[in-house]
Amino acid sequence: MNALAATSRNFRQAARLLGLDSKLEKSLLIPFREIKVECTIPKDDGTLASFIGFRVQHDNARGPMKGGIRYHPEVEPDEVNALAQLMTWKTAVAAVPYGGAKGGIGCSPSELSRSELERLTRVFTQKIHDLIGTHTDVPAPDMGTNSQTMAWILDEYSKFHGHSPAVVTGKPIDLGGSLGRDAATGRGVMYATEALLAEHGKSIAGSTFVIQGFGNVGSWAAQLIHEKGGKIIALGDVTGSIRSKSGIDIPALMKHRDEGGALKDFHGAEVMDSSELLVHECDVLMPCALGGVLNRENAPHVKAKFIVEAANHPTDPEADEIFAKNGVTVLPDIYANSGGVIVSYFEWVQNIQGFMWEEEKVNMELHKYMNNAFHHIKAMCKSQECNLRMGAFSLGVNRVARATLLRGWEA
Ligand code: GLU
Repeated sequence: MNALAATSRNFRQAARLLGLDSKLEKSLLIPFREIKVECTIPKDDGTLASFIGFRVQHDNARGPMKGGIRYHPEVEPDEVNALAQLMTWKTAVAAVPYGGAKGGIGCSPSELSRSELERLTRVFTQKIHDLIGTHTDVPAPDMGTNSQTMAWILDEYSKFHGHSPAVVTGKPIDLGGSLGRDAATGRGVMYATEALLAEHGKSIAGSTFVIQGFGNVGSWAAQLIHEKGGKIIALGDVTGSIRSKSGIDIPALMKHRDEGGALKDFHGAEVMDSSELLVHECDVLMPCALGGVLNRENAPHVKAKFIVEAANHPTDPEADEIFAKNGVTVLPDIYANSGGVIVSYFEWVQNIQGFMWEEEKVNMELHKYMNNAFHHIKAMCKSQECNLRMGAFSLGVNRVARATLLRGWEA
């Protein structure tokens, strides 16, 4: 199912559970603003290349809109819309004072040189600079972008508006980034998993894990789970998949990857077929890459007892129904991967205060926010008699609905 249809379906289900007025439901679903811009740059060889950039600002009832910027060939309007909507519910579940947005450029960043990426980022920023801002819409990294991308956006934005460090988060530390931001999404995934397993009388140390994706989120999640004594028995990314019954040595794998090695060339594990990764035997399955990877075809074959959605919308609604029938517990994306935006909030706060926190404080506060959100979701599941996805959606939608009603519509 298309990402927007899937996200809107989850939203509507939550709106019905909450008994929301149909007019309010409609207004919450329609994005605040959709921006589409043409970005043409000269390539290094002098020829021109044109790309399309997007920013969807979904909702600002609870505060400035917030969300990442993705550089990926699959970036298209419906996908960006769905991801922007997910950010609105995610920031509300996390109880950070933001709305939701998402942006991106349809491109293959690995096929562009560093200077081409810089030109593209600067042109995109020129096209959207008057629509983003510290108190209106605050971008951050996402798939295919990183702290360097944020540094270029900050620099280009500052040419128009003066130095404004809080206009983007996920910046390099030297430009006002927060300690702990790079690891934050993966660390949040680890805290979320710990909370979920504890509910079931289990722990990370006693569990086996399969991880799909070894980018920023997957590699930090793997590292932190490994540190906690969790056994990662299979792992895969675009360069291949590997498995080891006794557990993969994650620090050794990180070193191999940092030296430019493909996963399949790592000596400490056996190469496996990537198509078997998601259906591999394990306690906890963690999709940490693209959306829509768990669908009605592979869902009946998933052997994991728990799925922790480190990626955004990795599970199709049809797969969700199959998991419910098969007793597989799914910890939803809008909670599981909220560590990134939570520490983005801490970065924004530090920039506005002009005061830098120590990393221990960042991690401790992140732990507190993740635990609070988990308990609020569980309370919602109990009062609405629903699963974790509907508990999280109902919690997020209810908070946004309340803020919207309090603000009112008087013209
Ligand atoms: N791109 C991340 C997400 O999808 C982080 C967004 C942010 O920090 O604003 O949640």
